[in-house]
Amino acid sequence: MIVQIVELDWNIGSELELKAQDIIGSKVPPSRIAENPSYFDCKYCTYKGVCFDGEPVEKNCRSCKYATPVENAEWHCGRWNAIIPKEEIIKGCPEHASINNG
Ligand code: SF4
Repeated sequence: MIVQIVELDWNIGSELELKAQDIIGSKVPPSRIAENPSYFDCKYCTYKGVCFDGEPVEKNCRSCKYATPVENAEWHCGRWNAIIPKEEIIKGCPEHASINNG
């Protein structure tokens, strides 16, 4: 195991925290790293089909347009207007609306 000790930089920490909040709260998938599926990193990516070929995303509440993160590390469903029980988040429901369908 390799361990690297770095000097604490509060500014970088704050930037990374904001970046994480953006990713968690986003209603759309992140941008591609390339616009061509033959780009080296894309060729070997497990999610190439989702990015370029319209394959469906895994069905769960985290990939649903109706889900929004709320306080206490919980998720709210806009379709059912309720906090989603933790054990249901990984399953989704029949009303799942994929984040990669426009
Ligand atoms: S409960 Fe259903 S509609 Fe609500 S966020 Fe989850 S999958 Fe989407």
